[in-house]
Order: sequence, then C-alpha cells, then structure tokens
Amino acid sequence: MLKRSIATIALSCVAALAVTGCNDEKRNEQKMTVVHGKTMGTFYTVNVTGGFKGGEEALKKLSDDTFNRICDIISTFDKNAELAKVNEYHDTKPYEISRELGKIIQETVYQGRRIDGATDISVGPLVNLWGFGKDKKKNQAPTSEEIQETLKLVGLDKFEIRTDSEKSYLVKHNENVRLDLATVGEGLGADALCRKLIELGYTDFMVSVAGASRSYGVNSKGLKWRLGVEDPTTPERKVLFPICALDKAVTTAGSYRNFFKDDKTGTVYSHAIDPKTGYPVSHHTLSVTVISDSAFESDALDTGLLVLGADKALEFGEKNNIPIATVEYENGKTVIRHTNNFKKYIDCAKNIK
Ligand code: FAD
Repeated sequence: MLKRSIATIALSCVAALAVTGCNDEKRNEQKMTVVHGKTMGTFYTVNVTGGFKGGEEALKKLSDDTFNRICDIISTFDKNAELAKVNEYHDTKPYEISRELGKIIQETVYQGRRIDGATDISVGPLVNLWGFGKDKKKNQAPTSEEIQETLKLVGLDKFEIRTDSEKSYLVKHNENVRLDLATVGEGLGADALCRKLIELGYTDFMVSVAGASRSYGVNSKGLKWRLGVEDPTTPERKVLFPICALDKAVTTAGSYRNFFKDDKTGTVYSHAIDPKTGYPVSHHTLSVTVISDSAFESDALDTGLLVLGADKALEFGEKNNIPIATVEYENGKTVIRHTNNFKKYIDCAKNIK
C-alpha cells in the first residue's frame, strides 16, 4: 500500500520535468521553438534549439502527427486503434496484424523477459479489472477470486506472434487474452519524434512525453539538457534531484501519480501491477528511472523494475550496465539509490550553474 501522505495527488503522469540551465547572458541565447500538447492521455513538450522551420505551428503538427500514428496502432482507449481491435477479437485462430504492431509486441516481450516477465503486456485484463484501463476507475478493489480468475489470462506464454515472408499474426492461446502496450507508448512516441527531427537535420532538441524523455545536444543557452527526477513524496510537482540527459533517453515509472483508493478499506492501489500475483505493487519503491539509448527500451523496463522493487532494479542495472536510480520511502524518509554508472548524470547536473 502506498503511504497516504504521498498518494494524495491526482495527476496522471510521473517524472522527468524539464529544467533549464541558468545563465545570465541572455544576449547569447539562441532562439528556441517550444510546443506543448496532449497525447496518450497525458502531456508532451518539445523544445528545438535554434528554432524549428515553420515555427510552433509546424512543430506542433509534426509532433501530433507522429504521436497520433502511434496511438492509431497501440491505443486501447480508442476503439478504432489496431490494438483495441485485436483485443476485441475473441478467438484462438491467428489474427492478422501490421508488421509494426507485431514488432512492437515482440520487442516489448523481449524487454519483459530480460526482467523475469515483470513487464508483461498481457496484463490487459488485470489493468481493466483494477480500473486502470479504458473502463472508468473503480472505487473498490476486486476480490481475490476475481484476481485469480483473471490471472489465468496473463503470462508471456498466453500469446505468440507468427510471421511469414509477407504477414504477421497474433495467436491468442486463450480467446480472452488482451494486450496492453501503455507502458511503452510514451517511449515509442519520444523515439519516433526524435528520429524525425534527426532526419530533418536538427541536432539540439528535447522531446518529453510525460515520463519519457529523449534529447540531443544543448538548450538555447548552449548548456547540456537537464531533467528533474520528480519527488514522489510531495503533492506538488517538485524536482528531487536534477540530472543531465547526455544525449540519452530517460524514463521514469512511478507508483505515486496514477492510483485509486478503495473507499471501504482506504487502501491505495497503484497502476503498476505485478503480473505474477495480479496485485498492484505495494512495496516502498516509489519510482524507478532508467537511462538508455532508446526511450522505448527504458520505458519497457521501468514499469517491470518498479514491480520488482529497488534492490532487484539496481542489481539488474549493475549487471547489464544500464544506469538506474530508485526512490524509496521508508520510515518517513526518502531514500535515493543509483547504480555506479548513474553518477555521471547527477554530477554533470551539479556542475551546470
Ligand atoms: P508506465 O509505468 O509507463 O505504465 C503503466 C501502465 O502500463 C499501466 O497504466 C498499465 O496500463 C500498464 N501496466 C501495469 N503494470 C504493468 C506490467 N507489469 N507490465 C506491463 N504493463 C503494465 N489514458 C487515458 O486516460 N485516456 C486516453 O485516451 C489514453 N490514451 C492512450 C493512448 C496510448 C497510445 C497510450 C500508450 C496510453 C493512453 N492512455 C490513455 C494511458 C495513460 O496515459 C497511461 O496512464 C500511460 O500510458 C501509462 O504510462 P505511465 O508512464 O504513467 O506509466
């Protein structure tokens, strides 16, 4: 159960807040195009140093088009999206899907297997049962019987992707299997927009889709991009510690922004669900931040690592040379821990005044 004091916030996303570097010499500042918008049930911000050709309107259009394309494939909130239709298909016969969806599913499954299936996209039925899917949030936890029954549909062995030279198919081993790719949506969006900006010749920019961020180069003051890892223990959005992004993707999964409280028991349930038990995470780890070369990879790992908890998350990071930081709340104290290779991202931010 989350501590009440840290769970009284009703904002839906976690994580990385863009913070700018400080420099009084305004006259040296470069022009910057900045746009904000909504996508995937959350918010995004894009900054392009030096300005975007066509200005805000053109950058907004590029961003919206890029994110909408991903929503059209993986949303479970839009009944016309490809994945939503896949979820409405109740049969064990192969169902033809686009190459793109097949690839996203396969790659997310691969990332999940790296962490013992803790990120498991077959959690769809559990996400709905706990009221975090397209059906409205509930005000009462499901019964243990309901959870056990729903768990029968969950597991990376409950479906497979088949491909031949021309087509891809999803095969459900139970007709009621439902997939949920919400955990990688923001990362996919950040990567896709970065690819487009690079193709267009931009070298200095930052894309943030809620808790997933990817950046290159410098900001308008010529300083390395900085991000703030959010303090999960305060109701207001506050930076707990800043880091430099250093041309990498940074994502944060947190158990403290998206939750519901059982009216009867007062228990607070987070949206990160342990696919082995069927219950939302209930340990002291409040957030896990992952840095890698791809926002998709970081985003696919962070939710599962949050499920596993800080000790296992940090062990995984050390073993695989992936920079990871965790925030825990125990005995009234906030505890920040990180892998050795995360230190340079913190040190860099300290050196930018
Ligand atoms: P993350 O930690 O990255 O992901 C948590 C989410 O992943 C959970 O909410 C759950 O869906 C799923 N999950 C939970 N446990 C696991 C697990 N162990 N393994 C794998 N997955 C797990 N929300 C709306 O309210 N309205 C919308 O219209 C809407 N549209 C969306 C469209 C798209 C394309 C996507 C991707 C999401 C959309 N959302 C929408 C969902 C919403 O924004 C989610 O809260 C968000 O995607 C979760 O991201 P996060 O960073 O908060 O959490």
